[in-house]
Amino acid sequence: MTVYLVGAGPGDPGLLTVRGASLLAEADVVVYDRLSVVALLDAAPASAERINVGKQPGRPSTTQDDINSLLVERGRRGQSVVRLKGGDPFVFARGGEEARALAAAGVPYEVVPGITSAVAAPAYAGIPLTLRHSSTSFTVVTGHEDPDKGGELDWGAVARLGGTIVVLMGVGRIDRIVDRLVAGGLSPDTPAAAVIWGTRPNQRTVRTTLGGLPTADLASPATIVIGRVAAMDLDWFESRPLFGTTVVVTRARAQASELVSRLRLEGADTLEVPAIRIEDPPDGGAALASAVERLREGHYDWTVVTSPNGARRLLGALRDGRDVRSRLAAIGPGTADVLAAGNLVPDLVPERFVAESLLEAFPRPPGGGGPEGGGGPEGGGGPAGGGGKVLVARAEVARDVLPDGLRAAGWEVDVVAAYRTVAEPLDPAMLDAVATADVVTFTSSSTVDRFVEAVGVDRVPPVVAAIGPVTAATARRHGLTVDVEAEEHTIEGLVAAVASTMAARR
Ligand code: SAH
Repeated sequence: MTVYLVGAGPGDPGLLTVRGASLLAEADVVVYDRLSVVALLDAAPASAERINVGKQPGRPSTTQDDINSLLVERGRRGQSVVRLKGGDPFVFARGGEEARALAAAGVPYEVVPGITSAVAAPAYAGIPLTLRHSSTSFTVVTGHEDPDKGGELDWGAVARLGGTIVVLMGVGRIDRIVDRLVAGGLSPDTPAAAVIWGTRPNQRTVRTTLGGLPTADLASPATIVIGRVAAMDLDWFESRPLFGTTVVVTRARAQASELVSRLRLEGADTLEVPAIRIEDPPDGGAALASAVERLREGHYDWTVVTSPNGARRLLGALRDGRDVRSRLAAIGPGTADVLAAGNLVPDLVPERFVAESLLEAFPRPPGGGGPEGGGGPEGGGGPAGGGGKVLVARAEVARDVLPDGLRAAGWEVDVVAAYRTVAEPLDPAMLDAVATADVVTFTSSSTVDRFVEAVGVDRVPPVVAAIGPVTAATARRHGLTVDVEAEEHTIEGLVAAVASTMAARR
């Protein structure tokens, strides 16, 4: 089968091409090195073999010949091989050598271009590489020439071109590069900028002049831009509200993506620490199955789902929407969204997304049940004879506010455990990373419990953010100070609250 030389882009996972992503999703083998984005590896099937050919501490580095042979050998085995390369595979990346080796061995290969850091890093620093009338060319050069090649780049010619100069791999030899360009006639006052770790959450842009580059605070990897445009600062990336902030996301892995992507849109670096995993309830779902059986027979007036997980489990237990022969209540929009994905529209979503608010909004039972009897909104056409019945599908361990309140109002309540949350073990590297993060977000009490259990109160990041009052109260019970409590108890509301708190602190 084919070996694909795929450009991974400069670091922001969103800059992988659509074609690159779809090849990655079907790869048997992914060959990567340090510059390719490790986050992208998650896009490959879990079963795919991942081979790191980058420099690793304590191990001899893989030579280019070894990499070429590996690609040839895997290609011959008939595997679909994705060779991920940082930026573009044919820009200072030895992709040409790999393609040549594959061609010589008769192994089919394809090239998927990537967004090169030469273009992306300046864009993320707000520096346009060309500008009408003033900067009409850009030249991309390597600052790290192959000593065996003989004959140095004609820096004088590059200087005389008068356009924008983009230097990759230039940090180590910046003194010599500056000397050559000045010798070539470029003024030391020419604007210059170095974009370090461009497009990543830790991007840093150093703005200086050509003459200032040798003493500037540079680090690798950097894309260095020299020319009039380097004085431009059309920044949009480093000025986002959560830029430079590392936020821990504690949701179960399967559910973290919306929170992660919203935080990233605000500029945050995110650290996924899946403190909990969602599993079958202890009875394997038997109670839920028999409750659904009763639901199908019209036994219940209302079905109440109190979390997206509960909604997912309920949907999983149904044959289709016709099984829900009752009215349906969801605790909040996240739960309602999951139901909507199964074509179920809740009849009731309370104003505030907590159990107390759901109780307030809940109608009285039919047939005059309840201590105050009758009245209130209509109870809904359940079986005659009063004493309406409610099915509550929720986590194995949960607060009893809702069932207790419903019973007090005269409802007969069946509570079934639709799922349970179990602790997900965390590795030591993850724990270290948590200790240096700025913010931790909690979307449920169970994540607070498991996270504090796994990490220890002392290592919880300094800013604690909770989706709502119940989660916040749980955090306080663990001795944490809650700095951010979302006004709207949704993922969106949580991210907005974190962004405004962190912006105010800057
Ligand atoms: N094929 C890659 C370049 C590989 S050479 C591409 O097209 O981008 C490695 C050099 O690329 C680094 O020394 C640095 O100059 C540049 N580079 C790679 N990633 C970068 C990043 N995130 N920010 C700035 N420069 C980067």
